[in-house]
Amino acid sequence: MAIDSHCHLDDAAFAADRGQVLQRARWAGVQGIVVPAYKAAYFARLADCCAQPSSLKLWPAYGLHPCYIHEHSEVHLQELEHYLESSPAVALGEIGLDRYLPALREPDRWRQQQELFAAQLQLAERHRRPVIIHARHAYAEVISLLRRHRPVSGIVHAFNGRPEQAYALLDLGLVLGIGGVIAQAQAHRLRDIVRRLPEEAWVLETDAPDMLPYSAYRRGWRRNEPVLLYENARLLAQALNRPLRAVMAQAEQNTRRILRLPAQC
Ligand SMILES: [Zn+2]
Repeated sequence: MAIDSHCHLDDAAFAADRGQVLQRARWAGVQGIVVPAYKAAYFARLADCCAQPSSLKLWPAYGLHPCYIHEHSEVHLQELEHYLESSPAVALGEIGLDRYLPALREPDRWRQQQELFAAQLQLAERHRRPVIIHARHAYAEVISLLRRHRPVSGIVHAFNGRPEQAYALLDLGLVLGIGGVIAQAQAHRLRDIVRRLPEEAWVLETDAPDMLPYSAYRRGWRRNEPVLLYENARLLAQALNRPLRAVMAQAEQNTRRILRLPAQC
């Protein structure tokens, strides 16, 4: 059994065949999927997607993603709080900082990103919710804001930082989301880091429809989906030199602990 701790199942890329996508995942043994948000305009779509009857458990998370900083406003923060209070949100996410694209590094945008991230961390504190964090080219700043507004727990999704950053995040009570990055040929550093970490330190994710593992692309896949969680699990098991089943079970247990999900779906 397995949990995909990060998949944008509400995305338009799944509009035509979401039922089949879920069925494929279920057949393969995926038991549940955490579906993080990225902007307020799609909160209702996300709630609706997760409320549909399904053979899998779908857990929504709500948050304002740093890459859409130009679209967020004060009203959206209030809307976010409303969703946290009134819907079964398992976490606040995805939230964080991104300095990868020049437009996101522009001084005003960068300041807005930091303010929004801090405001959402405060919401997480107030509502005692775990966080799902997006960090790209901004680990130092993410860590320093997390030290100021400590979340109860959380996941740093698609972790691709340095060893000391991984340890700092673990110290803050977070775990690392392992997904598409480990499938990249140049992921030596990440494989090296996970080998040294305790087995409570990671969870598995796909980030579908993005981050299609290259091995799946070679076999003809053109869109990532939750069934490909197994691809990432296989690569993580290889890096750890442990049986696939043990890695899947450990990742599931870690996800349930961090997001405080019930022991059984
Ligand atoms: Zn994502």
